[in-house]
Amino acid sequence: MDMADKYAIPYFGLEPGEYAYSFTIGRDFFNAYEGSLIHEVDVSLEVRLTRRERILVLDLSFDGKVDLTCDRCLEPFAFPVELRRELVVKISEEAAEAKEEDVVIISEDDHVFRLGDHIYDYLSLLVPYRKLHPDQDGKAGCDPDAIRVLEAHTGKKSRGKDDRWDGLKKIKIDN
Ligand SMILES: [Zn+2]
Repeated sequence: MDMADKYAIPYFGLEPGEYAYSFTIGRDFFNAYEGSLIHEVDVSLEVRLTRRERILVLDLSFDGKVDLTCDRCLEPFAFPVELRRELVVKISEEAAEAKEEDVVIISEDDHVFRLGDHIYDYLSLLVPYRKLHPDQDGKAGCDPDAIRVLEAHTGKKSRGKDDRWDGLKKIKIDN
C-alpha cells in the first residue's frame, strides 16, 4: 500500500461528530522519504477527529521513540517521542496555502485528508540539531568504552604534544 493512502483519513461522507484513528509509524514510513534524518522509528499515533461541516479538527498524539546516532560517541540511542498537536483542516473549493501554523486548506474534491507529510514534518522537527545521549545522573549517558576508543583515535588526550603546532611555530619564525 502506498504511504499516502495508508496515512489518510477518508472524511468524505462522515457525519459531523467525533472519530478515532490509530496509525503505526515504522521504518517503512521514513524510508519512503528521500533524505530523511530518521530511519529507525517506532511511534504510535492516535488521532481524534472532530468533523464539522467544512472543518476537520485533528487532535494528534504521538508516542514512541526514534533511534538516533549520538554525535559524541557514535553509538545509537533511543530518543523518546511524545508530542501532542492540533491540526485544523479547512475544506474549501480549492486547496490553498494556509497562513497560520497547524492549519491546512484542502480541496473539497479530495475526499480524503492525507496525513503523511504532516507526520513527516512533525517528527523530523523533533530531531535535535545536536544528537546526544541524554545525561544520566548529571553525566553524559554515552558508552564510556566507545568514548575511550574515539579518544584513542583522535588523540584528544595527547593534545599537549600535538606536533601540528610545531609546523606553525616554524612558519612564524621564518617570517
Ligand atoms: Zn553518546
